[in-house]
Amino acid sequence: MPEGDTVWRAAQLLDGALSGKVLTRTDVRVPAYATWDLAGARVVETVSRGKHLLTRIDGERRWTLHTHLKMEGGWRVLRPGGRWPRPAHTARVILETADTVAVGFQLGIVELVAREEEDTIVGHLGPDLLGPGWDAAEAVRRLHEQPDRAIKEALLDQTRLAGVGNMYACELLFLAGVAPETPVRAVPDLLRMVERAHQLLDHNRHRAVQSTTGDLARGRNLWVYGRGGQPCRRCGTPIVEATLGDAGRARVTYSCPSCQPAS
Ligand SMILES: [Zn+2]
Repeated sequence: MPEGDTVWRAAQLLDGALSGKVLTRTDVRVPAYATWDLAGARVVETVSRGKHLLTRIDGERRWTLHTHLKMEGGWRVLRPGGRWPRPAHTARVILETADTVAVGFQLGIVELVAREEEDTIVGHLGPDLLGPGWDAAEAVRRLHEQPDRAIKEALLDQTRLAGVGNMYACELLFLAGVAPETPVRAVPDLLRMVERAHQLLDHNRHRAVQSTTGDLARGRNLWVYGRGGQPCRRCGTPIVEATLGDAGRARVTYSCPSCQPAS
């Protein structure tokens, strides 16, 4: 599951490759939009909102192409005729200009909406960790609306704050010394936690390797995520790997039982 900074990088990639250019060919390989043809339309920009990508395209009408990477998705920018890095049958959207082809592979969501309807896509989101209007106090207020919820679940709820995925949720809880099952009301300093989330994503959005430890070397860049059974970097206790969350939305969670004692 990509984190908000990964989605922000995808938006930067598309924005740099396509903005201001006229589309020469489009191919949306999703049944509902298979007949759509935006050739001749001009790409205005691509922005991220939480984990959602919005590509604004002006043709006879002002459209927004909404895509979401979900688990395995990714956008790649290539030269026309260039070799695709993933199998062609996994392509969901192709946007071609005179000198560039952008291909969206394995996208979890693909839809075209009128620009004025963007709010129906992203209006429900909480404050965007990498958005221009980031508001830590509002994120805290929204978290407090569900005081009995486990903090790990609450951090992943994009209507509370937008941009935290499973990796950052695990890392933030370790950094705060808070057990994942702790109810929101019992977390000592939520404001500090959401401000740290903002700092981590803000730093990492410009890096190829996401780091929460400050070390960019792979294998040393994270405290607990993906490290089940390995010694805690602080205390040496084996990191615990557990599946937490509601049925259907359960995620693997990593934590140190010593550094993050259950309250
Ligand atoms: Zn520890």
